[in-house]
Amino acid sequence: MTIQQKAVPLKALVFDNRFTRELPADPESENYCRQVMESCYSRVQPTPVAKPQLVACAREVAELLDLSHDDCQSEIFVRAFSGNNLLPGMDPYAMCYGGHQFGNWAGQLGDGRAINLGEVVNSQGQRHTLQLKGSGMTPYSRTADGLAVLRSSVREFLCSEAMYHLGVPTTRALSLILSGEQVMRDMFYDGNTKLEPGAIVCRVAPSFTRFGSFQIFSSRGDNERLKQLADYTIRTDFPHLGEPSKAVYLEWFEEICRTTAEMIVHWTRVGFVHGVMNTDNMSILGLTIDYGPYGWLEDYDPDWTPNTTDAHGRRYRFGNQAKVAQWNLFQLANAIYPLIDEAEPLQQALTDFADTYEKLSQQMMADKLGLNQYMPATDDALCSELEAILQLVETDMTIFYRQLAKVILDTDLDSAQRSAPLQHAYYVPEQLTDEYLSRLNNWLDNYKSRLQQDGITENERSARMNKVNPKYVLRNYLAQLAIDKSEQGDHALVNELLDVLRQPYDEQPGKEQFAEKRPEWARSRAGCSMLSCSS
Ligand code: AMP
Ligand code: MG
Repeated sequence: MTIQQKAVPLKALVFDNRFTRELPADPESENYCRQVMESCYSRVQPTPVAKPQLVACAREVAELLDLSHDDCQSEIFVRAFSGNNLLPGMDPYAMCYGGHQFGNWAGQLGDGRAINLGEVVNSQGQRHTLQLKGSGMTPYSRTADGLAVLRSSVREFLCSEAMYHLGVPTTRALSLILSGEQVMRDMFYDGNTKLEPGAIVCRVAPSFTRFGSFQIFSSRGDNERLKQLADYTIRTDFPHLGEPSKAVYLEWFEEICRTTAEMIVHWTRVGFVHGVMNTDNMSILGLTIDYGPYGWLEDYDPDWTPNTTDAHGRRYRFGNQAKVAQWNLFQLANAIYPLIDEAEPLQQALTDFADTYEKLSQQMMADKLGLNQYMPATDDALCSELEAILQLVETDMTIFYRQLAKVILDTDLDSAQRSAPLQHAYYVPEQLTDEYLSRLNNWLDNYKSRLQQDGITENERSARMNKVNPKYVLRNYLAQLAIDKSEQGDHALVNELLDVLRQPYDEQPGKEQFAEKRPEWARSRAGCSMLSCSS
């Protein structure tokens, strides 16, 4: 398929497409589904859509690309980021990668509905790859249609930006555009198909390379392409490591282990569950990538997964994300082993991952509680008792930590009055038995002594805690409310949420309704507590 209309430039966008220039391309130029050998990507054009309409644009991402507000409202912008017109310098392609899905090797996957448009180098010299998600079939679409619906696109768009503003490493989202076409979906794979509005998100990241990008070559014994992609990745995305060599490959893997550990610790801090941590959904840069059936913890339950496809094994449950990340890193280690040819240092890096994760988690918990630093002698017990208390009754994690900052510990108030700010965090007040309250108050006493040890004032403590414990997260039901309205043609809530989620740690008077716990109607509504991979 070719792009018919003549493109007019968005002048600020300067493309320099290193990926397609330096890496091997699929020689086949026809767009049909196939196994693609000895290639990192296939050139493919986005499929033009009927009637593109801008729903939302993230101004901070536009700024990264030196685009103005007016640029983003222009017709050429909407045409370019719906896939209807190529801009000068764009060289669209779909990436070839494989992956382990739910623990099993799935062979070639690839960008089945993502098309990279090219790499923009901004005025600061920073490189960003632009990628459309939902803009039609590629050689990697397998049995699917290459499209995305508004429901999943709102979720990807808002969550990417919410995560960024929370300080979580993530791919970004520039724009959300309706295609003006209807897409057939079976949301729960139960035979109930429905037509839904189609949409396209433009994602932005330094690179979209995944663990699976390396796995595909080693699974095929193609060490030449494996080395080519590894060398390219190191030179482009890890230039501080120097020229590729055995030692550098190893340092590279160690860095991937570290950034992956950091990412998971952030997820734990904010209560995020990715939902589908397959190795094709793991970024080589330690970025959160591929927002599908993700969810946010409401009541604190380490066993919770939002993904109905994973409801049985719960492989990707909240409390298992670090273990899965390590398992995924182990698969990456296997994939790059031919470059290093020594198992022991790779094994060591995986062991170090566990230590790094543990240390970072401890500091994260100390930060969440406003302590100077984690001291195992006292804080192991303090944190494990808190973990237990959070699970005794249905407790909203986000509200609990935010309100904990408001509890005045150094006070003559009786215990019921002292813990009153925490009342907002409970879903079922009848669960608050005397036994529970006395355990909570005991913990608050221990917490108070621990803070006294650190010599932290109440004001310092709450200021610190409010910097790491967000007030506003993309609660599952909020995303669903925005989707419901957007599907009716009213995009105001998508834009309002985007705005509120820009300052997740600020109080934002007048926006408190977006910090409220899940209403009862959302407890078991599809999209609010249950999601599938179908999007
Ligand atoms: P996921 O784990 O959901 O990110 O996707 C797994 C694989 O399925 C990737 O290769 C995707 O590109 C592909 N995929 C998912 N949805 C579609 C779709 N609607 N059309 C084509 N490919 C898809
Ligand atoms: Mg994916």
